[in-house]
Formats: sequence, C-alpha cells, structure tokens
Amino acid sequence: ARSELVNAERLAAIGKMAAHVTHEIRNPLSSIGLNLELLEEEVASSDNKEASQLVVAIKAEVERLSRIAEQYLSISRRPRPRLERERVEDLARELVAFVRPELDRGGVASRVDADDDLPDARLDESQFRQALLNLMRNAREAMAKGGELIVSIHKADDGGIDLAVDDTGSGVPEELRASIFDPFFTTKQRGTGLGLAVTRDIVEAHGGTIRCLGREGGGTRFLIHLPAAGVSTPDQTEAPSYSSENNR
Ligand code: ADP
Ligand code: MG
Repeated sequence: ARSELVNAERLAAIGKMAAHVTHEIRNPLSSIGLNLELLEEEVASSDNKEASQLVVAIKAEVERLSRIAEQYLSISRRPRPRLERERVEDLARELVAFVRPELDRGGVASRVDADDDLPDARLDESQFRQALLNLMRNAREAMAKGGELIVSIHKADDGGIDLAVDDTGSGVPEELRASIFDPFFTTKQRGTGLGLAVTRDIVEAHGGTIRCLGREGGGTRFLIHLPAAGVSTPDQTEAPSYSSENNR
C-alpha cells in the first residue's frame, strides 16, 4: 500500500510540472497541425513528390508529440473516477474493435473470452478505457512480427472480476517486472514510460490491482483484478485514499 501511495504522489507531482509545459506546447502544436494540413493540400496540388514526403514525415512527428502531450495531460488532469455500473465485457470488445486497424496493420489477431455470468463492475468508463488501451498498445508494440492479443474476463473467487490482457510478444524479463510500472521507465527508443504508470494509477483508483506475469511459451500477461460492483472502493470509503488526497 505504501508503494501505491508513493506511485500516486510521484505521478501527481510529475503531472503538475508537466501540465504547465504541456499546456504551453499544445497550442502551438495544434496550429502547426492545422497549417500542416493546409500545406498538405498545397503540396498535393503541386505534384511535388519530395515535398509531400516531407509533409508526411512532419505530420507523423507532430502526431507523436500530440500523443506525448496527451499522456502528460492525462496524468495531470485526471479527476477521481466517477464510478458507474458497467459491463466490462462490452467495454473490452469495443476497445478491441477500436484498436483492430492498428492490430491488422501489425499482423496481430485478437479475441475476447468472457464468462457467461460475469458480474458488473463499477467503473469510470473513460478512465478505464485509457487504462486498457495502454495495455493493448503495449501488447501490439511487443508483437512487431505479429501474434495474438487475448483479453479474457472471468469472475474472481472473491466475486470481483479478473481481466487479463495477454500477448504472444517479446515478453518482459522477470527482473524488469517490478520496474515497468514506474513513471518514465521504458525500454523503447521512442517510449514515454508513462503508459503503465497511468494504467496502474487508474486501476488502483478503482480499488483494483494490476500485475505483470510471464506466459508459458513467451509473451506477457497483465492481470487486473477489480472489486465487484457494490463492494466499497477507495472512492466511496471515508478514509482518505490516495486518489482523494491529491487534488487532480
Ligand atoms: P512505453 O510503452 O512508453 O515504453 P509503458 O509504461 O507503457 O511505457 O511500458 C513500460 C515498459 O514496459 C515498456 O517499455 C516495455 O519494456 C515494457 N512492456 C510493457 N508492456 C509490455 C508487453 N505487453 N510486452 C513486453 N514488454 C512490455
Ligand atoms: Mg506504452
């Protein structure tokens, strides 16, 4: 529990600093994006191949910067989750459909396995969506040569929900499993190292836990446990929880 608190405090501090910088960057970035679109049209009608390749390259980098800015903002801005009764299976299926174009491009198959009699969970849909999306993106990035993304959802022994995001990718070496949730920890040349930190923060703000496990035969499993709907969560208890301590 102490490390959870430290993680949340660190994220909040990072978020505060980042919010300022990100804010300053966002406006110029969006005007660059708009001007780039105009330039793209100009270049398209001028039939200049070299110029249009340059525009495409610039666009990709602008999009990358925007995504990084969004990740920082999602840390600094994230309010306490507003929990509502949700069907986790529906959300998972919707998200897999949402990332399918990216998966297809990378040669990654996908499936969702869910128990028939799943209990509902209490979720903040937009936050939990972000948490799962981060896991799915990591899974895809770990399967550069294709593979399979499997989301499985089962009723947990305690009446809650176990949700696993599995991939058949490169795997996480055992000695790194404790570090990958740290803010800024990344093994990617162009990673931010924020995805898993944000995911863990969101899951814990829902009263849940997340673990990284290896899979037999290679690949990685991220296992999220969520309390059943109706069970009290940090959001509802009177004791101050880390999610209510820092005012984000
Ligand atoms: P980023 O994706 O920007 O590197 P994350 O916080 O999302 O940051 O992930 C941190 C690190 O955890 C990654 O750089 C990678 O080393 C490892 N990782 C996360 N998910 C997976 C996965 N599904 N398979 C293999 N490694 C992973
Ligand atoms: Mg990531």
